Amino acid sequence: MLTAQPITIKVQKTLQTRIGEIDFNDLHFGKIFADHMFVSDYKDGEWIDSRIMPYGQVMMSPATSALHYGQSIFEGMKAYKNDKGEVLLFRPLDNHKRINLSADRMAMPSIPQEIFMEGLKQLINLDQQWVPTTEGASLYIRPFLIGTDEYIGVKPSDTYRFYIITAPGGAYYNEPVKVLVETNFIRAVEGGVGYVKASGNYGRSLYPTKLAQQRGYQQIIWTDGKNHRYLEESGTMNLMFVIDDVLITPPLGDTILAGITRDSVLTIARDWKMKVQERKISIDEVIDAHKRGTLEEAFGTGTAATIAHISLIGFEGKDYELPPIENTIFSHRVSKELDNIRKGKAEDIHNWMYKI
Ligand SMILES: *Cc1c(COP(=O)(O)O)cnc(C)c1O
Repeated sequence: MLTAQPITIKVQKTLQTRIGEIDFNDLHFGKIFADHMFVSDYKDGEWIDSRIMPYGQVMMSPATSALHYGQSIFEGMKAYKNDKGEVLLFRPLDNHKRINLSADRMAMPSIPQEIFMEGLKQLINLDQQWVPTTEGASLYIRPFLIGTDEYIGVKPSDTYRFYIITAPGGAYYNEPVKVLVETNFIRAVEGGVGYVKASGNYGRSLYPTKLAQQRGYQQIIWTDGKNHRYLEESGTMNLMFVIDDVLITPPLGDTILAGITRDSVLTIARDWKMKVQERKISIDEVIDAHKRGTLEEAFGTGTAATIAHISLIGFEGKDYELPPIENTIFSHRVSKELDNIRKGKAEDIHNWMYKI
């Protein structure tokens, strides 16, 4: 299916742009979508009919298989404008690889690279006025793939639809979060789907998170499904600690999603000659470090916020407060560095930026 010919994308432009409806100085995340969307269909073992069309409502049968059995996967990425007004994506080929990893696990077809990349390029090029230029702002991009058979028997769908929609978003306000170590519910188990971006992973996390929020925390730290001792992820972000000047993060595996931000943060830390450990870390080790005064930082990493600083960790009825977030700390510096690379203000030594 990986054809050598460049794909053709039919383009149907909107008759009336909605760009005037948005206030770029007051952007909220995920509610207003750019003028166009990309769509491609999978049928009889082939990708067909790649097209760009006005963003809008879609008709579907109530028997659409994705709605019933969850063959639904997605990606999250961002486009930025640099000072020259050029539009850049951050590591989009990694998102392409990852959506196909998710597709494999969910018995869905792979998306050829040229469909994913050409779809992205042409869509974002067409809607480039929607890429904000304000400090910290970006165009959030949501590629997703769903099973579309009109059939409620349990089996992999024969037909699929791949969409890309986009939404401008403002600077993510990085207020430090209070997190609760979850020892009852679990996010992922070995042999499960925790390592892929399946929609159901998010659905299942909402109730435990709601309970934690009712207790005054904003987020959950997920623990391993066997003993609830080892820390895995923070909400829908990868989790990192700085203990005794060493950057520690749980190792990748079945239960941890391989975040692109995670990899970028580890790479920059290594560039900066910081000691990095990808290994299991237990709540006992974190509490012990807190007692000894060596727990310097805890934070989540992900595309939406880049870095979410953790100010307090709740565990078994006790709250453990972290040192205040200062400009000098690693998570703050690395967040700035990533912003600078994305905006073309710092050298992109790893070739992460992809010009549209
Ligand atoms: C998407 C996601 C992340 C972050 O991945 P990035 O590529 O850094 O955005 C982390 N954990 C989970 C569970 C996720 O779904």
